[in-house]
Amino acid sequence: MKISQRLQQLEPSATMAMAAKAKELKAAGEHVVDFSLGEPDFPTPRHICQAATRAMQEGHTHYTAASGIPELKAAIVRQYQQRHGLQYQPNQVVVSNGAKHALHNVFTALLDPGQEVIIPAPYWVSYAELVKLASGVPRIVPTEEAQGFKLTPQRLRESIGPQTRVLLLCSPSNPTGAMYTAQELAALADVVLEHDLVVVADEIYERLVYPGHHFTSFPTVRPGLMERTVVVNGVSKAYAMTGWRIGWTLSPPQLAQAMAALQSQETSNPCSISQHAALAALEGPQACVEEMLQQFARRRQYVQQRVTQWDGVSCPEMAGAFYAFLNISSYLGRRYGDTPVENSQQWCLALLEQQKVATVMGSAFGAEGYVRLSYATGMGELEEGLDRIQRYLQSAQ
Ligand code: PMP
Ligand code: GLU
Repeated sequence: MKISQRLQQLEPSATMAMAAKAKELKAAGEHVVDFSLGEPDFPTPRHICQAATRAMQEGHTHYTAASGIPELKAAIVRQYQQRHGLQYQPNQVVVSNGAKHALHNVFTALLDPGQEVIIPAPYWVSYAELVKLASGVPRIVPTEEAQGFKLTPQRLRESIGPQTRVLLLCSPSNPTGAMYTAQELAALADVVLEHDLVVVADEIYERLVYPGHHFTSFPTVRPGLMERTVVVNGVSKAYAMTGWRIGWTLSPPQLAQAMAALQSQETSNPCSISQHAALAALEGPQACVEEMLQQFARRRQYVQQRVTQWDGVSCPEMAGAFYAFLNISSYLGRRYGDTPVENSQQWCLALLEQQKVATVMGSAFGAEGYVRLSYATGMGELEEGLDRIQRYLQSAQ
């Protein structure tokens, strides 16, 4: 059966593909250290699971409004008010099946065929594919490691063409862990206002920010940005709820209405039980977020300390999220045992085969010569995995 042209061009998610490979090897009895998927290894906190059980028992097992239950929308509004001083209304919230689905809604609702979205690289694997799926054109704009992988106003200005409609910002960043300061965001906002762009601000890692760094929500940095920004967020990362599939957008009401209409045709509501669990996450005790963050902070420090000891590998300081983005370019064009390795994909595959460590190649994030390592994994696994990577690096000829 012939597959549509649109889907023939769709790349499957590289993060998901590497995770699947790691799982296959594990199922075959191998001890694989899995640094591939960006997913907290902690169980979803107990009070959130209990809220889900209660929701089922109380009969919240039917369709809800397609864009989400009013209580959850109100909690999301409250959260942005309390944390960032932004006053949204409930009709500006659309709750979706994870932030990935929210992004799909956004691009589908915003883009006409041929319109461009500026995506600073390195970028999370799904952005470019989701833009293409919505008939848009990703305009990939490289950033420099020396500038902390951050887009500069000048580079942004140079990248805007007649078809450019949207700028996508992910801060803290998957895959680099970089985070824009308020000043840096304000400088980008000036260009955005000058050129009448819409900003999609993916803030899903906003709660995972390390000591010494301060998160700023994009619409706060200049007046008038709420009207031209779509904020994307969700519970997957902060509350270890990746499987529950709840994410959302905050946007101008007209766009929210369009996305709600789209969702009413495509998926109806996100899972009713998960919505009640997400409500408990936002409204319940927040100590769990702090506790997980402390563990991530310990792991981050350990990764940073190990990696700086590796000859020829560099890794900028991670301000947030739980990824290390290693520059392994000096380890390409070399042999590992009998295997010649020319690019990051081959490097990752040989690492998986020889040392049983799963990582994701930089090329999937638009940055050849790099590799992403997710440290959302236990300390023991982290030590073992880094030992193995070290052995692999030492074996390069
Ligand atoms: N944005 C970024 C930057 C991510 O890393 C992820 C990870 N999955 C998502 C969005 C999607 O999250 P969700 O699990 O809520 O779909
Ligand atoms: N966002 C995570 C990652 O980058 C989860 C997998 C995915 O959704 O791509 O690994």
